[in-house]
Amino acid sequence: MIDLKSPAELSAMRRACRVAALALLEVARAVRPGVETRALDRIAEDRIRELGGVPSFLGYRGFPASLCVSVNDEVVHGIPGRRRLREGEIVSLDLGAVIEGFHGDIATTVPVGTVTEELRRLLRVAEGALEQGIRAARPGARLGDVGAAIQRHAERHGYSVVRDFAGHGVGRRLHEEPQVPNFGRPGSGVVLRPGMTLAIEPMVNAGTHEVTVDPDGWTVRTRDHKPSAHFEHTVAVTESGADVLTRLPEDASV
Ligand code: MG
Repeated sequence: MIDLKSPAELSAMRRACRVAALALLEVARAVRPGVETRALDRIAEDRIRELGGVPSFLGYRGFPASLCVSVNDEVVHGIPGRRRLREGEIVSLDLGAVIEGFHGDIATTVPVGTVTEELRRLLRVAEGALEQGIRAARPGARLGDVGAAIQRHAERHGYSVVRDFAGHGVGRRLHEEPQVPNFGRPGSGVVLRPGMTLAIEPMVNAGTHEVTVDPDGWTVRTRDHKPSAHFEHTVAVTESGADVLTRLPEDASV
């Protein structure tokens, strides 16, 4: 069952998404060589709570932090800790916030200091894949159109999309129906309708699409240890197209 949100529910989601986006912006700004990943988690949790939210991820199925921090070949769900970020790495930052019973979910991948042009290209293409997916999330389109748009963009640039993890519906629960795969066949899957709220989150790998899960039970990484980038927005399907609830105005400050 896909839960369609009322205008009032969408307003609450918009508030949750804004808190998540503001918190993520502050975390991203704190990324620099030498910073411990657990310091980023602290910023995420503090900022979400200061803005009146509760971290969505903390305790979710036992996840021990408010922020997922996934470095280089780590794809998603990395656990923050004592690891220090180093110049030239890329780091995926993923968090969620709950406000008034609704979740907002957002992720970005950023460079640590100066990175190679090869890595900058991976980030650009992965972010572009997200934008293509968002553009495809129009009312009357199908879920397969979203996945196909993401996959086409990534593969056209020589990259692959992760198959084992997907985007998802989001709302009263962090993960709701439907699953939103990052690959697909145009014209397949459920029809998108106004009121649907989706977390669209391409995970784009430089090499193989295959991933493994670390013994910690959480950290997903590429099987070939090539780098991976991850970008996510929470969007609402509206009569006029996708409304990106986690998009901040250009002049947003924290
Ligand atoms: Mg998500």
